[in-house]
Amino acid sequence: MAFVLTGGRVWNGLAEASAAADVAVADGLIVERAPADAREIDVRGCTVLPGLIEGHAHLCFNAEPEWRAVYDADTPARMLLRMAAHARAMLRAGITTVRDLGAPTALAVELRDAARAGLVESPDLLVAGAPLTTTGGHCWFLGGEADGELAVRVTVRERVRAGVDWIKVMASGGNMTPGSNPMRAQYTVEEVAAAVEEAHRLGVRVAAHCHGVEGIRVAVAAGADTLEHCSFQTPDGSAKDDAVIAEIAAKGLIVSPTVSVGLARQAGTDRWQSRAALLRALFAAGCRVVMSTDCGIPNVPHGALAAGMRALADAGGCSPVEVLRLATSTSADLLGLPDRGRIAAGRRADLLVVEGDPTVDLGALERVRVVIANGRVVHRSG
Ligand SMILES: [Zn+2]
Repeated sequence: MAFVLTGGRVWNGLAEASAAADVAVADGLIVERAPADAREIDVRGCTVLPGLIEGHAHLCFNAEPEWRAVYDADTPARMLLRMAAHARAMLRAGITTVRDLGAPTALAVELRDAARAGLVESPDLLVAGAPLTTTGGHCWFLGGEADGELAVRVTVRERVRAGVDWIKVMASGGNMTPGSNPMRAQYTVEEVAAAVEEAHRLGVRVAAHCHGVEGIRVAVAAGADTLEHCSFQTPDGSAKDDAVIAEIAAKGLIVSPTVSVGLARQAGTDRWQSRAALLRALFAAGCRVVMSTDCGIPNVPHGALAAGMRALADAGGCSPVEVLRLATSTSADLLGLPDRGRIAAGRRADLLVVEGDPTVDLGALERVRVVIANGRVVHRSG
């Protein structure tokens, strides 16, 4: 399939602004010049940008307050269908790559492979399967309980054997599991370090869930590759620790701050203020940051990445272009996806066409007109 998007503006994933240009696609890739038989797609009034990357999703949760009852009632077959439906919703919102950081292992791997085989309409998926957690710990019901260094090593080996792309470890407790305390660490440094060592030996990186500073310290000391949430959570909001933030920056660890429409709903509160101060401190310290929302958790719908991007711009004090980079080129680079995240010849043709210009108004991301994934037009509207 070859086509050329004509008459619109282009933002290439890096530049300070968009510019008038056409984009040509052939055989799944962005190309310099369209073949003679290329179909024209008129995108006047629109901007073409790289497909968005969601750094932290849960396709198996339904984003509703009663998520747990639905999760518990699902058969594996129904859950797989539910995950596929959420994946399609994300794709239609212009999200062409998703890192799923917590689902039953076999289902996540199956859906990723089915998507790559063209059996389901889905973003390209990177999956962690069931996160490693302590017995009865955060999200134990996903099937990843492992206590002690040996069990942690064995479980990492099992995940890699099953074909995961990332290892997820619950370094602290979490907010969605009764009896779990997000302010406390779940694992010791030695346990998380065992997971990191084993995963790296096998060529896979580690995403560490950490909310309170205690869990963040464990994840940082263990050298986890991405710090999920990294919210410095306290009972009242966030309490940033500048020494820990400096260490995150010095070690080059990647922060995946899971900023969503949930934060936007807190705008004007002390909670929002403390989280905004944290995000600004992370940027000011030079921390490497990817865009993520934790979609699937209650009241954070799949596909609401654009709302999360607006929330991050507001709370983090970022310009639209800075946030757009986080969700495209920066996430591609930091998550190890050098084939995407930019509009440049030879890159994978994952493209989003929106009405208006998101480099001046992130609200344009809500006006999706065309989604192109791996060189195929997968969605058109309006
Ligand atoms: Zn999560």
